[in-house]
Amino acid sequence: MADVELIKKQITYHPDFPKKGVVFLDIFPVLRNPAAFEALLNHLENHIKSHTLALSESKKIDVVVALDARGFLIGPILALRLGAAFVPVRKGGKLPGECVKVTYEKEYGADIFEMQSDAIKPGQNVVVFDDLLATGGSAKAAGELISQVDGKTLEYIFMVELPFLKGSSKLNAPVYSVIQHD
Ligand code: 5GP
Repeated sequence: MADVELIKKQITYHPDFPKKGVVFLDIFPVLRNPAAFEALLNHLENHIKSHTLALSESKKIDVVVALDARGFLIGPILALRLGAAFVPVRKGGKLPGECVKVTYEKEYGADIFEMQSDAIKPGQNVVVFDDLLATGGSAKAAGELISQVDGKTLEYIFMVELPFLKGSSKLNAPVYSVIQHD
């Protein structure tokens, strides 16, 4: 598809960043190119309207949850386009008020994610968005927060997936990624 190719062409690869042996995929150049950014938003909106909505009985997306921090660049725009609420999942200690909390394993030690407890009502239909799916640890933690408040995760959506890390096998709902990178 031409739109996927345009988006894919913008992504840059940075060997040994943020540490030796890691190749970091930089998605910011997509946002630097207005045509590619627009193509990405249109692609995600079309996918959700043509596929994700079919997964919900009410045929409505109530909430877009996005992950700290690059998920925040796209999640709110997607939420507006869908007429849904935007809800952030943030690193521990950043959100005021009562929060649900989960501890998850990162490559080096544990980290904490939080979400405001009243942000999702029981039974609401949720899609989770993040820029990239690697091991799946972050997205799984977000899914656990949604489960803690009895939200219904319909789908996990990413710009880029690294299928060889099998992150999707950790998640409790279908996964959709615009680009798969080996
Ligand atoms: P996971 O928890 O699936 O192992 O890692 C995914 C999280 O780490 C995402 O929040 C993503 O933003 C970040 N991440 C890990 N590697 C990369 C990368 O190469 N590029 C980008 N843009 N994000 C990455």
